[in-house]
Amino acid sequence: MDIFDEMERRGHEQVIFNYDRTSGLKAIIAIHDTTLGPALGGCRMLPYASEEAALLDVLRLSEGMTYKSAAAGLDFGGGKTVIIGDPARDKSEVLFRALGRFIDTLHGRYRTGEDVGTSEDDFVQSLRETRYLVGLPQAYGGSGDTGDNTALGVMQAIHAALMHRFGSASLKGRRVAVQGLGKVGYHVARRAVEEGAEVVAADINPHVVGRVSSELGIEPTDPWAVLETACDVFAPCALGNVINRDTVDHLQCQIIAGSANNQLEDDQIAETLREKNILYAPDFIANAGGLIQVADEIQGYHPDRVKHQIEAIYDVLLSIFREADDAKRSTTAVALDHVKNRLSAVHGIHRIYS
Ligand code: NAD
Repeated sequence: MDIFDEMERRGHEQVIFNYDRTSGLKAIIAIHDTTLGPALGGCRMLPYASEEAALLDVLRLSEGMTYKSAAAGLDFGGGKTVIIGDPARDKSEVLFRALGRFIDTLHGRYRTGEDVGTSEDDFVQSLRETRYLVGLPQAYGGSGDTGDNTALGVMQAIHAALMHRFGSASLKGRRVAVQGLGKVGYHVARRAVEEGAEVVAADINPHVVGRVSSELGIEPTDPWAVLETACDVFAPCALGNVINRDTVDHLQCQIIAGSANNQLEDDQIAETLREKNILYAPDFIANAGGLIQVADEIQGYHPDRVKHQIEAIYDVLLSIFREADDAKRSTTAVALDHVKNRLSAVHGIHRIYS
């Protein structure tokens, strides 16, 4: 990969490679765009197949964070970290302290916290070295786990999509298929059941499916079948790239709204979904609840203010759905226009010397 070409194409400002020989830390921090404020975005730890795969992931994820923050009306830019390593084997106190020291060298230009493969407790170690962290446990001054607030945002996206498609936001009697029953997917399934939906769900971990299906009374299915389930709403809450050229023709849903980042293989798939009359709630808007929560921590966490901001996802999406229909464009294309307009308007006022 030609890194500078890729940065230019995606609009990145900075990519930092971090290596620590004591802990074995290999981490890449990508800062995409700081027009709106300091970059914010979680830290993912995965046993990437190659350094190139890790780099591509961090570039794509950090770009998504810029859009997520801009669409949610926040004053933060987009950033992300990936650690190349196996979360089950390679975690240690010094690994997360080393990461904390590298984060600290950025003096607040970037803040991070938990993501796939990392937990809030890992960042309690990093906190010994830097204060530029978010999503810490409540006992350490943070706002705690973001799973339920992210699920609350996904529910706003589901309600807006139901309203747009059927003229009623109610989930009563609707069939919802949830892929992934982790920190977010569990709460999406729980909330959907509480609102009277019939829920079918899958997870690659059979223990998780067994536990959650008996607790919530939902129908278990396998990870592939969930994608092909005939349903009103498909909620991808596992990993990204789930809607791609191989899977798109198997979908039998009316609406896609879930928490996974980068659900679509690329923007062309958004157009394919439009042609197939599947209403897609862009992931970077539907899954902003967790980001809204951790961004609020920085000014002193206020749960009511966070709830109010997350509920605004409903109106934002409803207007994007209407505009996309009127213009015969994909919801992703319209959402990206909104984001780019905000970025350029805020950039514009920076002309004023204060
Ligand atoms: P998690 O790791 O707690 O849960 C993911 C679950 O998906 C796990 O139980 C895993 O076993 C399951 N899974 C993985 N691959 C699967 C597959 N192919 N089919 C079915 N199940 C599969 O993660 P999470 O925090 O719940 O996040 C889920 C997604 O939402 C991720 O893409 C994450 O980046 C995104 N997201 C999370 C938050 C948050 O606040 N946690 C915020 C925004 C976006």
